[in-house]
Amino acid sequence: MLFTVVDLERDPINFSVALPPAAIDFGVEAEQLGNLASEGRAEVLHEHRGPKEIVADIRLKGSFKGMFQVPCARCVDPVEQILAEDFDLLFRPAEVDANGAEHAISTPETEIGYYENGGIALEDVLREQVLLSLPARTLCKPDCKGLCPRCGLNRNETACSCEQGPSDPRWEALAGLSSRIKP
Ligand SMILES: [Zn+2]
Ligand SMILES: [Zn+2]
Repeated sequence: MLFTVVDLERDPINFSVALPPAAIDFGVEAEQLGNLASEGRAEVLHEHRGPKEIVADIRLKGSFKGMFQVPCARCVDPVEQILAEDFDLLFRPAEVDANGAEHAISTPETEIGYYENGGIALEDVLREQVLLSLPARTLCKPDCKGLCPRCGLNRNETACSCEQGPSDPRWEALAGLSSRIKP
């Protein structure tokens, strides 16, 4: 769903969507289960920067809720989790601040992003908001034993007979995968 300044200048848009799992690619951080529901309102806000310069910002206010599978930070087993959050975002045309001129915005509670080519896709916004809403560290259970750093076995399922020693960095990289959040 694309919100363009041209459309929003005519009328704000109230939206209510249910996006199927294939609509947004969340990468390895999260897998969507079932529909992702989102509703809210898109509108244009005009920033008056001088007698002649008026910047058309897109404001997107709403919420999302969906069921996701997130890899356990220790054993990478999938963990089901409901992710739900409100958002209130302001998007400025990318070219306006491109020359390095920083302008303070008068609504400090609102996060600022940028849009290109005259509009913004709801899917792009939701992708970022969902990833931002992920807990820093998801565990399948509080005492998850994780993967053995030497042989890679899931130690919740199998007690391996590895002694302590130099670990294989490939398993450590795998175990740390889900604790990295993309910017
Ligand atoms: Zn685990
Ligand atoms: Zn082992």
